[in-house]
Amino acid sequence: MKIYKHFLVKNRCYKKAAKFYKGKPVGIIVHSTGCVNKNVTRYVDDSTLGKVSPNHWNKPTISKCVNAMVGWADKKKDVVAVYTLPDSYRPWGCGSGKKGSYNSSYWQFEICESTTTDTKYFKKAYRVAVLLVANMCKKYNIPVSKVISHAEAHRLGYATDHGDADSYFKHFGKTMNDFRADVKKLL
Ligand SMILES: [Zn+2]
Repeated sequence: MKIYKHFLVKNRCYKKAAKFYKGKPVGIIVHSTGCVNKNVTRYVDDSTLGKVSPNHWNKPTISKCVNAMVGWADKKKDVVAVYTLPDSYRPWGCGSGKKGSYNSSYWQFEICESTTTDTKYFKKAYRVAVLLVANMCKKYNIPVSKVISHAEAHRLGYATDHGDADSYFKHFGKTMNDFRADVKKLL
């Protein structure tokens, strides 16, 4: 898997440059975008990957940001991962729950969603996400038990009430337990 780097330097979150509570992530949150657009260039303005959407996130008017994006790169004819914030930066990804926010300690990424019947894309995107997370777990000694979805982070009290990425996975018969098991196989 090739991981690209294209930091969203004009995004408000990047500009704030707040670091994780411990200087490095202690967990990982898996998000999915919740809208049907598999193109990574919907969010990342890297024209070497594909046609950039005017709604991309590299602008000061955008108040959300994650550490990486997984999606289709039309010019590479493949699903890719792109780092969009440095590993040590707090993302603006999961909001807050009743106990606080995992934005202060969890590295976060989004999987771009395609249609709920696009199994071919899902399989590739899921695989890239597993590889990306396994890399991060190795790099920062993060236990697989600390790899959770946005929905799980909400249930723990540290994120807004969203259903992702479980809501996307379920259309293809996958759960977060499957995801963690697949990551574990690579560690
Ligand atoms: Zn989410």
